[in-house]
Amino acid sequence: RAKEAGGARWTLYDARTNAEAVNRYTVSVRMPKALDRGEFFLEYQPICSLVDRSLTAVEALVRWRHPLLGVLGPDEFVPAAEETGLILPLGRWILREACAQGAAWQRRYGSRAPQVNVNITARQARNKGLVADVGRALADSGLEPAMLQLEITEGTALGPHDESLRVLDALVDKGVTLTVDDFGTGWSNLAYLRDLPLAGLKLPSSFITEPDPGRSADEDVGWRIVGGLTTLARTLGLTLTAEGVETAEIADRLREMGCDWGQGWYFGRPTSPRDLEELLLRRPPW
Ligand code: C2E
Ligand code: MG
Ligand code: MG
Ligand code: MG
Repeated sequence: RAKEAGGARWTLYDARTNAEAVNRYTVSVRMPKALDRGEFFLEYQPICSLVDRSLTAVEALVRWRHPLLGVLGPDEFVPAAEETGLILPLGRWILREACAQGAAWQRRYGSRAPQVNVNITARQARNKGLVADVGRALADSGLEPAMLQLEITEGTALGPHDESLRVLDALVDKGVTLTVDDFGTGWSNLAYLRDLPLAGLKLPSSFITEPDPGRSADEDVGWRIVGGLTTLARTLGLTLTAEGVETAEIADRLREMGCDWGQGWYFGRPTSPRDLEELLLRRPPW
């Protein structure tokens, strides 16, 4: 029996190290080529007003169509890209692609076109070249700077790095807006709320739970935290977006609490630009 257990443990360990080795290999060796070969693509997920359900923004989410492994999500390669520095060329491509798509929507749909959100990693935020990269992506695409919103993850990019604060400041000078992603999950020193010219905060889906019909928001600690953060955002004049809006009940409760925008499967999964346009053309079906 002991031998069996040992064998099972060995198999598990072996499979994991093997997957990690494959991952390291595919990322460090294949990723530069993957960029040249056009293996990355972006999907866009709707972000909707919780009040009138209109489409206000989209978040660009990167995927890798790997020739052997199939479509990989960002969790499978962004951390390694961040470690190796490949996030810099990949991030430049993401910015250019998202801005080009946003500008095409602006030309086609005018004032109904959604703002475009692009995720920025810590390494990108510390890189002075980011300011020029964003400038070029805007100039080449013709996207209005105010239509580009950068999502900065609290835990990684908003630590005590003077460098990233300077870079982010310079970006806001260009007219783009900044929002804190995964607010409340990372660095607990909130001085950046004072030091950075922010436009919004995004609550991660881990804060959002299905409302219990037997209990009011007041009786549920999780929802009381969301309520408190709603007040914080309002006090600071920041737009609050909740992620993980999977049901109408969640959308309703968030609206009642005064949360501005919602993102999640209830409004739509990450999808191709073409499918996203159907949402733009239709009246909200929700
Ligand atoms: P994030 O920025 O917090 O993005 C939201 C994630 O939540 C996305 O996962 C999205 O597919 C997922 N999601 C959306 N609606 C729901 C829902 O109703 N319920 C649940 N449970 N999840 C939902 P995805 O696409 O796998 O992205 C994961 C993370 O990878 C992102 O988290 C972001 O931090 C990072 N990422 C994605 N795209 C990029 C990118 O282009 N550049 C960089 N630097 N990071 C990216
Ligand atoms: Mg995923
Ligand atoms: Mg994000
Ligand atoms: Mg998030």
